Amino acid sequence: NIPLREGLVENYRGGSGIGARLLYELLEGKISAMDPLEAGNPLIFMTGPFSGTTLPSTARMTVNALSPLTGIWGEANVGGQLSAQLKFAGWDGVVFLGSSAKPVYLHIDGEKARLLPAGELWGQDTYAVTDLLQRRHGGDNRKPAVAVIGPAGENGVLYASIAHNKGHHFGRTGMGTVMGSKKLKGLVVSGTGKVDIGNPEGYKEVRQRLLNKMKESLAVELFNLYGTNCGIDAGHLSGDVPIKNWQLGEWGEGINALNGPAFEAILADRATCYACPVACKRVVEIKEGPWQMPAGPGPEYETITSFGTMCMIPDAAAVAKINERCNQLGLDTISCGCTVAFAIDCFEKGLIKEEQTGGLELRWNKPELVLKLVEMIAAREGFGAVLALGSHRLAEKLGGETKKYA
Ligand code: SF4
Repeated sequence: NIPLREGLVENYRGGSGIGARLLYELLEGKISAMDPLEAGNPLIFMTGPFSGTTLPSTARMTVNALSPLTGIWGEANVGGQLSAQLKFAGWDGVVFLGSSAKPVYLHIDGEKARLLPAGELWGQDTYAVTDLLQRRHGGDNRKPAVAVIGPAGENGVLYASIAHNKGHHFGRTGMGTVMGSKKLKGLVVSGTGKVDIGNPEGYKEVRQRLLNKMKESLAVELFNLYGTNCGIDAGHLSGDVPIKNWQLGEWGEGINALNGPAFEAILADRATCYACPVACKRVVEIKEGPWQMPAGPGPEYETITSFGTMCMIPDAAAVAKINERCNQLGLDTISCGCTVAFAIDCFEKGLIKEEQTGGLELRWNKPELVLKLVEMIAAREGFGAVLALGSHRLAEKLGGETKKYA
């Protein structure tokens, strides 16, 4: 147990602040010398001060560790149900120290926490493992919150994510890679308690005020209607959407094929995080054509731009399919899409040759190729092993002119 000592909560408010402080303390004096994939790199999951309450949009939480992608402080953030379930189980956070010789997962059920063998889960994708663990530890109308890595995290891709309940990802800075280096497949959390409110009257008043404001908010309405992708049209008008590996500022026809209304054709439902009235999450389903997929988590704005506009793929269904595979394999869609776009750009400019790609011709608007690369990256196979380094390290490896485009 690490007590929430005096000063920690007040001075480092929120999961992000406390996580960063704990990381600093646990690594003091060792940061510059440490390989982030060493057992000594702590992996810190922290909830926030309002986690588990019904204040709107407070379902998010963070994970911190030294990042294998950047070599400095790493942090990723997620919504969903995990923070609430941790609080209901009586936990503010979980810190993993050291590593296991064999694959394991952590099962938290109220105050009880056990590391259980995960040998049969290792190698499986995040959707399959989530279903299996929810069946194994759920029941009696209880659905535990699950956070797991996929093959990308197991294989050491430097931007592997941690998938929570399939569609919510701790995406950035390779936190799934750190988890894989510890042979930790995942966490399963169930709680039945509740969060005590110190000042119930004040809480009720603030909550109602927030809900009233949200009801009047155009931004909330747009987020509900089109998800996080609602801003792509306005972003395009102001030149804020990354296009063609940041080489273009405008792409009208592409934006029309990838904006909020463009995803309506495959929208099956809207979803939300714990107690959040915004419901900005998308559920998509593709019943016919080359990108068929069952109803499942749809892409967010960042994924739509990293694979859609950055790789010049003006096809909502194709981007949804690529998103599904990245989710299943446990890949950060931002780093993955941007690294692929960078490689395509270099190939188009003659800075990467077919001898380096294993004969693959990297071109814009090739969704089949991008799907193939995603599989190769997660397996660190062939040219995928090079793309698994991320754009910055890839440019360092390639050298010359390529750095200008990373
Ligand atoms: S549903 Fe959207 S707005 Fe609400 S907490 Fe989740 S990510 Fe945030």
